[in-house]
Formats: sequence, structure tokens, C-alpha cells
Amino acid sequence: MSGIYIHIPFCKKACHYCNFHFSTQTQYIDEFTSALLVEIELQQKYLSGKIETLYFGGGTPSLLSKQAIQSIYNKLKDNFDFAQNIEFTIEANPDDLTAQKAADWLSIGINRLSIGVQSFQAQSLAWMNRAHTTTQAHQSIKNAKAAGFSNISTDLIYGTPHLNDQDLSADLEILLNYGIPHISCYALTVEEKTALHTMIQKKTMEEIDTTQQARQFNLIVDTLEHAGWEHYEISNFSKPNQRSQHNSNYWNGIAYLGLGPAAHSFNKHSRQWNLANNQLYFQSIKNKTIPFEMEHLSTTTQFNEYMMISLRQMEGFSFEKIINEFGAVYETHTKKIAAHFVQEGKLIETSFGYALSKEAKFFADGIASDFFWLEA
Ligand code: SF4
Repeated sequence: MSGIYIHIPFCKKACHYCNFHFSTQTQYIDEFTSALLVEIELQQKYLSGKIETLYFGGGTPSLLSKQAIQSIYNKLKDNFDFAQNIEFTIEANPDDLTAQKAADWLSIGINRLSIGVQSFQAQSLAWMNRAHTTTQAHQSIKNAKAAGFSNISTDLIYGTPHLNDQDLSADLEILLNYGIPHISCYALTVEEKTALHTMIQKKTMEEIDTTQQARQFNLIVDTLEHAGWEHYEISNFSKPNQRSQHNSNYWNGIAYLGLGPAAHSFNKHSRQWNLANNQLYFQSIKNKTIPFEMEHLSTTTQFNEYMMISLRQMEGFSFEKIINEFGAVYETHTKKIAAHFVQEGKLIETSFGYALSKEAKFFADGIASDFFWLEA
């Protein structure tokens, strides 16, 4: 089984915090779509096995016309072996998610929406420089539900300067009341080469308050767990059996192909990524060449990635898997470090192996790095 990710590298405007690859030059969308159709043919041999999940991410995939999405999907079906009932997700921004678009997407076969709500608070949306309003955030969910979508996820961003705990609680309550089954919650991070980074450097914006972020993370976990949701990955919460299949496969080491500028692909032995440059992509594809770089994954790299990804998940890591996939020496190494974290109450035993305790989860990435095998 495998997955396909399509990166749509266009947005209407730049959110202050964003370091994803996108361009606001939306006049190139048609040229991009034509190039993507060629790349699909060029990459038809990358995956073996049935395609179980298809994910349009970005950027802003909801900017694409119905015809463009349909032509991409048709081309994919002509070149890959799709399973019967795939999970087919599109990321949508609230300002694009009209009743008509929702109906169009359903008619194409899209069965899951990931809506970039981020916040229902007008002040936070303005601070982030989002293209949508509070009213549009609400209306987008209503339109999706009215069209017939039930498998809906929304993104929330917490830890922004104007978002107090009451606002965040109100946002969570709104989402719970809409009855959607999945929420992804991201702590605001300051990435280089973003407007937010520049503003903080110039001291026109305050620094991010990590104490607030940790507190709000716990508020989210408590609220959603109390509502009976699973906190199945550090940033992801769902009702039982409503996890994102595409992302879960990615975290569980299933092969995937990424298409479009900046998209990443993984085939269990190597990882490759298309260069993040739209014009270079168009030119290269005209010459039937994909502009990409590749990294062969050593055992150590794969082990480190496994520790990073598994410690972010509810099930945690398994010693059995470590022995089978990486060898006894990695098991000994992991056991030694794990003992220390168990003693501190940061690691707990699960039916699968060992996972982070609730108190330690906010620090998952730092703890995972303590398990890394450092190559000499
Ligand atoms: S809409 Fe999404 S991808 Fe586009 S700038 Fe905003 S956060 Fe980044």
C-alpha cells in the first residue's frame, strides 16, 4: 500500500508565520497543472502496490478549479493502481470553501476535507495575516457539512500572542459543537525567512511565550481527551477510528510519492524532494526532467527518524521493531536511554511498547533527540 501527495504551490496571500513553499503568483496555476500532469507520467514507476490515500496539500489546493482537480485525478488513475475506497483529502482555506466548491469536490470523489481554520478569533486571524474572516471560518464548516462531507478536519494554531486561554477554549467548543471528527493543533513556531521572524528580529513583534504554549497545549489535550477523543499524534486529535489515514501511513513508514514543487517522496530506502521553485519546475518538466535531490537513508538515519516519529505518536516505540529493523545494538542503546526517562516518569509502558507520558508530550521532539544515534 502507498500514498500520493500533491503539492499545490500557490496562496492568495502570505500568512506571517508560514515557511511552506508557495507563490502568490496565481496566474501560473494553469501552467502548473499542465506540468503536474507530465510529472505524474514521469513518476508512474515510483510506487508499487495499490494507492490507498491521495492528499492535495499546499499551499492552497482549494484555489484549483474543479476541472484542474478532475484532470489531475484522472491522470493519476491512468498511471497508478488505486484501491477501491481510497481516502481522498483536499486542504481548503475557509475563504474558498463555498457550497459550490464543496459539491464539486464531492462529485469528483474527494471524501475528506482539511480546513485551514486556524482560529475563530478575529484578532488572531488578523495577527496571522490569514485571508479569511471569522464568519468565513464558520461558513466553511457549514458548507462542507451541508454538501455531505462528514470526514472533516480543521487546523488550529495556538500560542499566538493575542490568543488567551478563554479564546482557545471557545474555539475548541465551537469545533466540538460542529461535530467534526478530527482536529490538528499546531503551536506557533517562528521559522526563518518568514515575516514573523523578521518582525521579531526588528522587535516590532513580541517573542513567542513558550510557557503560554505549553499551558495551551495541555488545555487542548485535556479538553479533547475529556470529550473522548484520541490524542494519537502530538499535533493530531480524532474521535475513535477517525484518524487521518494518509498521515498515519506516513508516520508508520508506508511509501509515498510527492508531486509538485517542494513535494517529498519516500520509498523506504531513500527520500527525495522536488526543488522548491515553481519556474524551475516548469522549465525542467518541459524537458521531461524532474528537478529533485535525494538522500539514501542509512540505518542510523532510519532509526533516528523512527524514534522521532514514534515518540510523537500515542503508541510510542517498540523494542521488537527496533531489533527487527535496526538490530540488537540499537535495542541496547534505546534501553539504556529509556530507563532514565522511565525513572523520571516521562516514558510509560503501552501495549505496543513505550510512549511519552502526558506531562512529557509537549517536549517530544527534544526527548526524541536524546535517543538519536550519533554517527561518528
Ligand atoms: S494559506 Fe497555508 S500555505 Fe498559504 S501562506 Fe497561509 S499557512 Fe502558508
